[in-house]
Amino acid sequence: MDLNTITEVIRKPSEQPGTDWREGDAWLAGGTWLYSTEQPDLRRLIDLTALRWEPLVPTDEGLEISATCTIGDLYAFPPETWTAGILFRKSCEAFLSSFKVWNAATVGGNICMSLPAGPMITLTVALEARYELWGPDGSVRFVDALDFVTGDHRNILAPGELLRRITIPEYALRKRTAHRRFTLTRLGRSTVFLVGTQRPGGNDLLLTVTAGTTRPVRMAFVSLPDARTLRQSIDAVPADVWFADPNGTPDHRLHLSRHFAEEIRRELMAGDLP
Ligand SMILES: Cc1cc2nc3c(=O)[nH]c(=O)nc-3n(C[C@H](O)[C@H](O)[C@H](O)COP(=O)(O)OP(=O)(O)OC[C@H]3O[C@@H](n4cnc5c(N)ncnc54)[C@H](O)[C@@H]3O)c2cc1C
Repeated sequence: MDLNTITEVIRKPSEQPGTDWREGDAWLAGGTWLYSTEQPDLRRLIDLTALRWEPLVPTDEGLEISATCTIGDLYAFPPETWTAGILFRKSCEAFLSSFKVWNAATVGGNICMSLPAGPMITLTVALEARYELWGPDGSVRFVDALDFVTGDHRNILAPGELLRRITIPEYALRKRTAHRRFTLTRLGRSTVFLVGTQRPGGNDLLLTVTAGTTRPVRMAFVSLPDARTLRQSIDAVPADVWFADPNGTPDHRLHLSRHFAEEIRRELMAGDLP
């Protein structure tokens, strides 16, 4: 769509983008959302893809994913490298989109959109990622992925701040995983997307609930809870955190989350996963 309020696109931002940030500015990543709807409050777009950040950097500490890494690049990354790699594929596939969106949309753009059904949020919260945020004054801060999204289309970014990279720790990449996702239609947007992870050889459970909630919810159990305890933990999620949209009512999402959390618990308990 033509964005007729935009008067300038910064195609070559400085290596420290944001220093001349002003009201009406927006970071441009894949543009799949920015170009899909009117943006009456915006005047300038600052193109982050021009910075040519390396999309995926495996290190001894884990995996660094640049905010500008596309969903397509992430999908192509060999999942067998780590036990939890299967989740990369599943999260990309949860992205309701055409191949055009798939190849342009970025991991950072998806996280910063902060929609409940943002599959890159699911992936990175479940794998205990840390986000690196750059402020317009040159400051850098790090946040747990869990604390970034605060509600539907809301997050902790300050004006002019950007998401630079996402780091998934090595130990999380080596975890066993089980996931469940529900959509109303075969290629529909997620109504709920739950992921359970467990240390190799361990008996713990880290359960992440997304899409059904306005912000990600994560529950940590030192040892696998029984069915009743798990259900009580799901029921303890505050009522106003369950999301309502045409893909499901809060009650429906609570019901699905109870059901899938139990399936995940049983799957990890069975111990027949890699
Ligand atoms: C057909 C279609 C289907 C879609 N399906 C889904 C879906 O299933 N789930 C879903 O969550 N979304 C979906 N979307 C919405 C959107 O396309 C995705 O969220 C996408 O991942 C956004 O990424 P992008 O790189 O295109 O972001 P852009 O459109 O470039 O930007 C999105 C927003 O994030 C900001 N931003 C981008 N990068 C950064 C950064 N590094 N730091 C700070 N701010 C940043 C931008 O300023 C803008 O406000 C869909 C859109 C379309 C058109």
